[in-house]
Amino acid sequence: MRLLLHTCCGPCTLYPLERLRAKGFEVTGHFFNPNVHPFREYERRVEAMETVADRLGLPVLWAPEGYDLHRWFEAVGPETDPGRRCPACYRLRLSAAAAAAKAHGFPAFSTTLLYSRYQRHAEIRAAGEAAAREAGVAFHYEDFREGWAAGIEAARALGIYRQPYCGCLFSEGERYAARAERLRRRLAAPAAGRAA
Ligand code: SF4
Repeated sequence: MRLLLHTCCGPCTLYPLERLRAKGFEVTGHFFNPNVHPFREYERRVEAMETVADRLGLPVLWAPEGYDLHRWFEAVGPETDPGRRCPACYRLRLSAAAAAAKAHGFPAFSTTLLYSRYQRHAEIRAAGEAAAREAGVAFHYEDFREGWAAGIEAARALGIYRQPYCGCLFSEGERYAARAERLRRRLAAPAAGRAA
């Protein structure tokens, strides 16, 4: 069975791809991630994905929108609370994957977001199933999280870039919140000899 796999990044693709291929799926990747900011970060993740595609012989449909920063902020960005922001982000990306599956004749699609231990797994599944209903294709649900360690090991072996935060600028701020607070305190503290 042909399956379109929404790929959030190269490292997260490795384990789901191996597992799906072992089950006999003929997998094509789909890269649409306007949630990744800023551009240099987006570019690094695209390059990691290109390496995965090249080394593992994975055909990829690259979303024609490219780095669609505005679309993400219009659809998701107003929400700063991750409890609402992340589900909206999943809906945006998985709706695009479902529409691409329909347009390119894939009977089903899935997503590498189901591999992450740090994402809202149940909400990814709900977003995928809703997008599938809207587009008229099937959503292939699978819990890929058990392959977390194997996927990290495979990414290290390939030498590809592994990102330190989820993608959006809000998630970068959350990742480095403690460091930013330490910086703020250091700059706020009276220091002998510092210029005003
Ligand atoms: S934290 Fe990740 S999933 Fe949540 S909105 Fe940001 S990029 Fe999307």
